[in-house]
Amino acid sequence: MTRLKNTEWHIAIIGSGGAAMAAALKAVEQGARVTLIERGTLGGTCVNIGCVPSKIMIRAAHIAHLRRESPFDAGIQAAPPMIRRDRLLAQQQDRVDALRHAKYENVLLGQPAITRLAGEARFMDGHSLAVRLNDGGEQVVPFDRCLIATGASAAVPPIPGLAATPYWTSTEALVGDSIPQRLAVIGSSVVAVELAQAFARLGSRVTILARHTLLFREDPAVGEALGAAFRTEGIEVLEHAQVSQVAHVDGEFMLTTTHGELRADRLLVATGRTPNTGSLQLEAAGVSVSQQGGIVIDPGMRTSAPGIYAAGDCTDQPQFVYVAAAAGNRAAINMTGGDASLDLSAMPVVVFTDPQVATVGLSEADARLEGMATDSRTLLLDNVPRALANFATQGFIKLVIDQHTRRLIGVQAVAPEAGELIQSAALAIQAAMTVDALADTLFPYLTMVEGLKLAAQTFSKDVRQLSCCAG
Ligand SMILES: Cc1cc2nc3c(=O)[nH]c(=O)nc-3n(C[C@H](O)[C@H](O)[C@H](O)COP(=O)(O)OP(=O)(O)OC[C@H]3O[C@@H](n4cnc5c(N)ncnc54)[C@H](O)[C@@H]3O)c2cc1C
Repeated sequence: MTRLKNTEWHIAIIGSGGAAMAAALKAVEQGARVTLIERGTLGGTCVNIGCVPSKIMIRAAHIAHLRRESPFDAGIQAAPPMIRRDRLLAQQQDRVDALRHAKYENVLLGQPAITRLAGEARFMDGHSLAVRLNDGGEQVVPFDRCLIATGASAAVPPIPGLAATPYWTSTEALVGDSIPQRLAVIGSSVVAVELAQAFARLGSRVTILARHTLLFREDPAVGEALGAAFRTEGIEVLEHAQVSQVAHVDGEFMLTTTHGELRADRLLVATGRTPNTGSLQLEAAGVSVSQQGGIVIDPGMRTSAPGIYAAGDCTDQPQFVYVAAAAGNRAAINMTGGDASLDLSAMPVVVFTDPQVATVGLSEADARLEGMATDSRTLLLDNVPRALANFATQGFIKLVIDQHTRRLIGVQAVAPEAGELIQSAALAIQAAMTVDALADTLFPYLTMVEGLKLAAQTFSKDVRQLSCCAG
């Protein structure tokens, strides 16, 4: 491929989400000129319809839950809260708008080497895009390099009747103007469980229809613990459930399922997200997609077409914004003559339920599939002082180690604020720490992350016999 001088590079980036923005800023830092093409709202999924609004709604629901009940109800009188959905929505949208201005619009204003184009891009060939402008007309954008960062959209399963009903995806659910009395949720992965619990805590009677178990790709103990926590709160979890028909009659959803008929006021479909590649005319540029529909890339985000890269949810990479941003950053380095790749071996994952689910590295089953001999310990939360002080002891922390080297290779946790402890585990894995070194590290007493140290100690001690502070 021809090498260009920094100032001559023109990079076209399709999309304006986490992957696109990280790539645009890095490319400009490397001396390139960028055209950023976005057909919808600047900022993409995370800030507008994903991470940010969902975490605000989940936090509000958590507060509602604590007002209704907490482990301290004997001494602090609980009272059912009055939920004003309109005010919660206004507050949520204000923060979304503020973050979009601060982190996307204002950042771009300070970057004269980035030109914004509002419209939908498609490939004409391996060197140029045609952009159907939102204001009318079409513009051809020739490029030296191109990054596809078009994200993903809610997948809708082909259930008979469903398409003709006013079902919600997460996008509509997050801005729904009322909290339905009865909510049915089809799905069992991150978005499904997070929103199911949020709606339940804001007042809906929620039924989850899970095709397998909850979060079935994780260690089975994770789904079991989350399912138990959900059922304790009154959320109905129907596992191994298939929906064969959906109808909407007189304002009511009727679902025919393997568990019988289910009626609901609203239906949320959260069965995964499909890469946005359909309108790109990828074949004109020779860009291949996988069977799952994601753009095929190598570890340097290069597609099958020379000079064309892809990053984030439009590929088969794990669908998290920090993965998208890291991939966009590496892609920009490679598009401007560098050589970078993305290592996901210590990628932390957090599911924002209560208790939270947090994982990093390998589960025991994954490690065995890779042919590793493993050892593991599971520490129940009633051994963790922070959990005891909180009177919230549902959950566990599981450590998986390589039996030969005793290095930590994976952690699975179901615990309140587990998201705050998982990064320490990720750092320990990245630093190739042994479980013995982890057990010897100082951890502050009465933090949840101290549970990592206690779990590490269980490889050589019975933690129930330890005095305070885990020595
Ligand atoms: C409800 C929900 C909650 C989530 N919560 C979290 C969380 O807590 N933490 C986390 O890490 N991740 C979370 N995610 C996932 C995260 O939002 C995504 O992984 C991330 O935003 C993907 O970034 P991206 O840059 O790949 O794509 P996106 O942000 O989706 O950006 C793609 C952009 O490309 C544009 N586009 C598509 N096709 C074209 C075209 N042909 N021409 C021009 N523009 C085009 C789209 O309009 C879009 O703006 C959540 C997702 C959802 C749905």
